[in-house]
Amino acid sequence: MSKLIQAIRGMNDLLPEVIARWQQVESVARDVLDGYGYREIRPPLLEKTELFSRSIGELTDIVAKEMYTFEDRNGDSLTLRPEATAGIVRASLEHGLLHNQVQRLWHAGPMFRHERPQKGRYRQFYQIDVEAFGLVGPDIDAELVLLTARLWRALGIDGLTLEINSLGTPQSRERYREDLVRFLESRRDELDEDSLRRLERNPLRILDSKNPAMRSVIADAPDLLEYLDEASREHFEGLQRYLDDAGIACVVSRRLVRGLDYYTRTVFEWTTDRLGAQGTVCGGGRYDGLVEQLGGRPTPATGFALGLERLVDLLAQQGGATADTRPQVYVAILGETLALRGMALAERLRDQGIRVQCNCGGGTLKAQLKRADRSGARFALLLGEDESLHQNVSVKDLRHDMAQQQIPQSESGEFLKRHLS
Ligand code: ATP
Ligand code: MG
Repeated sequence: MSKLIQAIRGMNDLLPEVIARWQQVESVARDVLDGYGYREIRPPLLEKTELFSRSIGELTDIVAKEMYTFEDRNGDSLTLRPEATAGIVRASLEHGLLHNQVQRLWHAGPMFRHERPQKGRYRQFYQIDVEAFGLVGPDIDAELVLLTARLWRALGIDGLTLEINSLGTPQSRERYREDLVRFLESRRDELDEDSLRRLERNPLRILDSKNPAMRSVIADAPDLLEYLDEASREHFEGLQRYLDDAGIACVVSRRLVRGLDYYTRTVFEWTTDRLGAQGTVCGGGRYDGLVEQLGGRPTPATGFALGLERLVDLLAQQGGATADTRPQVYVAILGETLALRGMALAERLRDQGIRVQCNCGGGTLKAQLKRADRSGARFALLLGEDESLHQNVSVKDLRHDMAQQQIPQSESGEFLKRHLS
């Protein structure tokens, strides 16, 4: 035998055992999104590299060192998307979705970043991404937060903390940036390697440092909120009024920043201390500059992305039931001549809405009952010569003590449904 090929590091196989939780999150999320009038969009996984370097920016970690970029057979530089917003904006512009109209859109799917794999941080990971275009006010920022809060409630997740901050406008941020750099220069000897690197290129990201040794420097840094322009301050206060009115607690957190130029005003994150180091479940904010940066007309935009692995992890920690998708009935077929009838019987039961696994590949009664047991089905239906002769089938309860009985095939659906409910 030749050597087994293994998956790429940081790329997970989601096996059938864990899928129930994923489906639960996905279907609850879809219902919540429907409830707010967001519509699904599915852009491709691959885009031209230029899309990401132009939107996310050459100076970010993502573009500088995390992208999966390669040349395709035509020699074009392509990249597996590291995030969804750029592709959604590109698709929306390409198809005229942003033309003088409000759009509420969402997408769920895998993203790719060449990061150091660890718990909660992978090289292929799934996000649900939600975006709203064409609205400038704090009302829509608040709606996005309300939507996420409803999602946590619908999933039964508690203990998440909401942090918010405002980045102001690019102009107000520039003034802040200058003062911040001046301050950091004065404490240069206390900065770690990461921060020294960011000092030149992306100093705001230093505030987001996860290194505990950086805490005291960051605590002394000038406060971004004191630099806000009047309109941004009103926007931020407006957001807080909406959240307050909806009974959603939040903390204003000065460490919450995004380094990119196109981010404006609102940023928010939902975090938990139950996931260890990777505690951010969801992050978002306003990015009024992005659409224009990608060649569209100036269009206000706001959105968030949430990490599905982390959310599923949280849910798994809390336990709780997931929907049972196992077969309810296993059809055992005793004799080769009955193969066609057995499969037809299984089809008729499925027509009546019953989940049925039909035995394939023959086997003795004992072997088939073993498979039936392993399938998780409640009942086995046995179709042998005798049953078939009388248009009957034998019903065996695999989970409870109940005498095996022969019933007419024509009544088997009703019989099973009665006992399954
Ligand atoms: P971090 O600071 O943890 O690297 P980020 O700012 O890069 O996060 P975003 O790009 O805002 O994250 O992505 C939104 C969410 O997607 C994150 O809050 C997180 O839940 C999830 N996420 C981001 N990167 C990964 C990854 N490599 N593996 C798993 N989930 C991730
Ligand atoms: Mg990251």
